[in-house]
Amino acid sequence: MMKAVANTFDVIIVGGGHNGLVTAAYLVRAGRRVLVLETRELVGGCAVTEEVWPGFKVSTASYLASLLQQKVIRDLELERFGYKIDAKDPAFFSPFPDGRYFFMWQDRAKTLAEIAKFSPRDAEAYPKYEDRLERLAQVAESLLLTTPPNFPPSGAGDFIEYLKLAGRMRGLSKKEVVSLVKIFTQSAADFLDEWFESEQVKVTLATDGVIGANGGPRSPGTAYILLHHCMGGVGGHRGLWGFVRGGMGAVSNAIADSAKSKGAVIRTNATVSKILVRDGRAYGVALAEGEEIRAKIVASNLDPKKTFLELLNPSDLDPDFVDGIRKFRIEGTSLKMNLALRGLPEFTALPGAPGPQHRATMHICPSVEYIERAWDDAKYGRPSQSPLIEMTIPTMYDPTLAPQGHHIMGIFLQYAPYTLRDSNWDRERKRYTERILDVIEEYCPNIRSIIVDKQTLTPLDLERRFHITGGNIFHGEMSLDQMFVLRPLAGWARYRTPVKGLYLCGSGAHPGGGVMGAPGHNAAREIMRDS
Ligand SMILES: Cc1cc2nc3c(=O)[nH]c(=O)nc-3n(C[C@H](O)[C@H](O)[C@H](O)COP(=O)(O)OP(=O)(O)OC[C@H]3O[C@@H](n4cnc5c(N)ncnc54)[C@H](O)[C@@H]3O)c2cc1C
Repeated sequence: MMKAVANTFDVIIVGGGHNGLVTAAYLVRAGRRVLVLETRELVGGCAVTEEVWPGFKVSTASYLASLLQQKVIRDLELERFGYKIDAKDPAFFSPFPDGRYFFMWQDRAKTLAEIAKFSPRDAEAYPKYEDRLERLAQVAESLLLTTPPNFPPSGAGDFIEYLKLAGRMRGLSKKEVVSLVKIFTQSAADFLDEWFESEQVKVTLATDGVIGANGGPRSPGTAYILLHHCMGGVGGHRGLWGFVRGGMGAVSNAIADSAKSKGAVIRTNATVSKILVRDGRAYGVALAEGEEIRAKIVASNLDPKKTFLELLNPSDLDPDFVDGIRKFRIEGTSLKMNLALRGLPEFTALPGAPGPQHRATMHICPSVEYIERAWDDAKYGRPSQSPLIEMTIPTMYDPTLAPQGHHIMGIFLQYAPYTLRDSNWDRERKRYTERILDVIEEYCPNIRSIIVDKQTLTPLDLERRFHITGGNIFHGEMSLDQMFVLRPLAGWARYRTPVKGLYLCGSGAHPGGGVMGAPGHNAAREIMRDS
């Protein structure tokens, strides 16, 4: 039996991920009465801290921050609400099977000395590479908080918007314009081959090109993901990534507190089962328990498949649109494992603990070819036999996350395809967990002896726990044909949808995934323009 609730809200946000919370925080500041409905018992979506084991506060999904937009941090006063980040230093540590290792530091001179260990020529090239990436990132970054123009363009207004976009490239030299076009189309490996000769340097940089990607370092388009990972920064220093004090949930909690301080209402354990539509216009939502809540504006933080295929009736949408959303590619290839540790891993390549290696993102991926082979498995529906592994230990920066003398380790892995050809993840989880530990053991022989507990989140678990279709960490592949004016579909990249009063405010909209706050920010702006 439906229980209708009076129209006490102007806007309902479906989903309390960090983007939904950003939309809420902006709209409530603009005087709208805002309600956020989150299905889980806590807000944050993929940016959460959960006490998985007593005393261990784990960033169960996302684990590092950099992309959160400075404008969002400033406008929503997030530092006042507890947001604090420690930039990683060193940034990366890559041990190699031959016993050598490679560090990248915040200090450029120290990084150059490390690169020179492998190739003096690459050490010479690196400052130019970084400067070039910085210039390209400046242009690409300026698009993050921009609403994409209509596509295909249909009137003079649209053409003016495209001219304005072209204007952003004005300061670039010819070489930089060529690089910009290349980085949007090339593979990460091809892009890096043009700059460097050393395998160790290339593979360390290439990892950023494949994190979350449905492709290997030789797949066209992965160079852009490399750039995507350079578009943020910590404390105004571009490209730096850091650990958030209190874990990633502290980002979401700061945004939620900022929204609540201005009067937003946030309900957890509130599952939306339907977006209500009449005569082509949204007028509220129905909750799974039967309650109906009305508002003139509904913004969905859910991915496009969940929003359009699960919460709406197909009859509310044009069949071509439904077909486009069905074809939107959203199968993930990432797996996350969280470990509770009673000590620190000892690397054969660099013994001793604690050491700077434990403060870095620690890579297990000895060569570009290794990653490509890992992808080959995934292409044919198998988890990578020898996967790319990224390990981080947030307790090196924030010891309060674990009981004294203990640590947390996050393991992010490529590639674990959502759809397995000859098995399923419920069957594979245990076996593959052991395989991952075998691979880590090759570099850190003591790993098994220091594990107190472990949690493996396969793509299927990511889907079930975080409600992300296909376990895709970005709410949809970030390939060129699903970016900018094409995200999620051509003609629908401006946060509006074919249903009047219904907006998208999550990572399935421009500029995509990552703890960035940009889709949430842009959606709020468009909602304010319309109402
Ligand atoms: C394993 C993993 C590792 C990652 N690592 C990083 C990283 O280190 N750094 C980084 O920047 N990014 C990382 N990402 C990506 C990043 O976390 C996401 O792209 C981003 O957090 C998505 O935010 P969002 O607000 O758009 O959506 P989400 O966080 O997915 O939020 C959507 C919300 O909607 C809720 N919801 C779903 N269905 C309903 C319903 N029917 N009713 C009510 N509520 C509902 C969900 O519970 C969720 O809270 C990672 C993601 C994953 C999964």
